[in-house]
Amino acid sequence: MTAEITLAKAGEITRVLFSIVGRYFLLAGIFYFIFYVWKNHKFWYAKIQQRYPENKHILREISYSMLSVLIFGIIIILTIVAGQKGYTRVYNNIHDYGYFYLFFSIILMIFLHDTYFYWTHRLMHWKPLFRIAHKTHHLSINPTPFAAYAFHPIEAVIEVGIIPVIAFVMPYHPIALVIFTIYSLLLNVIGHLGFEIFPKGFASHRLFKWHNTSTHHNMHHRLTRCNYGLYFNIWDRLMKTNHPEYEKSYDKVIERREQGKLIPDTELEKIRG
Ligand SMILES: [Zn+2]
Ligand SMILES: [Zn+2]
Repeated sequence: MTAEITLAKAGEITRVLFSIVGRYFLLAGIFYFIFYVWKNHKFWYAKIQQRYPENKHILREISYSMLSVLIFGIIIILTIVAGQKGYTRVYNNIHDYGYFYLFFSIILMIFLHDTYFYWTHRLMHWKPLFRIAHKTHHLSINPTPFAAYAFHPIEAVIEVGIIPVIAFVMPYHPIALVIFTIYSLLLNVIGHLGFEIFPKGFASHRLFKWHNTSTHHNMHHRLTRCNYGLYFNIWDRLMKTNHPEYEKSYDKVIERREQGKLIPDTELEKIRG
């Protein structure tokens, strides 16, 4: 019986780890393949920093990400176990709170995470903590999608900390948490993409400007002490940490991207190979 329980637990741990690794390679891999390999000549003009990072940097991003996956897995499994013992606010029957709450809880998770991310990120830029932990993530000055989980182990613990925060603070259905984590990873991968994919005028639009772009987080990697937000720049604008040249820089990238579109594909292939 004990052996069966141990086997069941080992199966659960393997399933959690594989799903985190799988999502990471699937999302980061798809974006990397399209922008850096398959259509690299076509998207060159949308490249925020006009150079590619060396392979050794990409390998470092992947290696640190694998270490983070392990840490994420441990914390997530502990949260699941806490839920099974009735310590978290997880519920398994959607009808307990209804479909409206299911949708609303995902939005709530995103805003909660945005606040959590902004302030823990500011904390990690405190010099002693930056030197010990956050410097690792900033080794990617010209990041690729694989930098999404490239954290020092201390930072990995802080990053995954949002999961227990959600689990202990608000009622949540596992489906909502899964959708939230996929959306979060998607935004994370786009932030590290290195190419601008948002539409023209997005960063200065009355409404959309509050939502981040690839350029926003790319500037954080290049300039370090600005643009701390993940999904939105509400906190950045409130705390005056949004880079004053952000909107201008975004428009410059878009202008170059639009010019690139006028160049025929055959010419692009000759230029970029
Ligand atoms: Zn940072
Ligand atoms: Zn980053």
